[in-house]
Amino acid sequence: MSRHLEPYQGNPFIEIGRLISEEAYKRDRKEIMLQTPEQTGGMVIDLIKTEGEDIVVGEIKKSSRFEKSAMMQLAYYLMRLKNLGIHAKGLLLFPKEKKKIEIALTEELENELIEAQNEIKRIIALPIPPQPKMIRYCKKCGYQELCWS
Ligand code: SF4
Repeated sequence: MSRHLEPYQGNPFIEIGRLISEEAYKRDRKEIMLQTPEQTGGMVIDLIKTEGEDIVVGEIKKSSRFEKSAMMQLAYYLMRLKNLGIHAKGLLLFPKEKKKIEIALTEELENELIEAQNEIKRIIALPIPPQPKMIRYCKKCGYQELCWS
C-alpha cells in the first residue's frame, strides 16, 4: 500500500471473497469508503448498522481460517474510527460458516495494532525490501506475482 501496489484483481480467491461479500447480508450492507488526509490508505467498510445506541461495523470474510488477521483488520478500522471520534463495535461475519464474532477494541488490541504499525513503518523505511519468506498465506495471496516471479 505504501507503494500504491494493488493485489492482482484476477486472483480467484479475491474474486470469490468479493462475490461472498456482495451477496451476504444484503439488507444491512452499506459499503463505505473512508479516507482521511492524516492517514494514508483508505478503508472499505463492508457493513455498518446501528444496534440501539451502538454503531456496529462489520467485516465479511470467506472463511474463518485466517481469523486473527481478519480480527486485526477490523480492529484497525475500529481504531481509525475511534481517532475520528466514532466509537463502534466490530462484527466479523463468515456467512458460509454461519459464524459471527464480536470484536471490541481493547487497550491490548490497540497496543498490538500500534506495534504492528511501527513494524510496518520500519520495513517501509528500509532502503531495499527484505527477502520474501514463503508462508501459509502466500498460496492465495493477490501479491504472489510480485513476491515470487
Ligand atoms: S510474502 Fe506471501 S503473503 Fe506476503 S505478500 Fe508475498 S505472496 Fe503475499
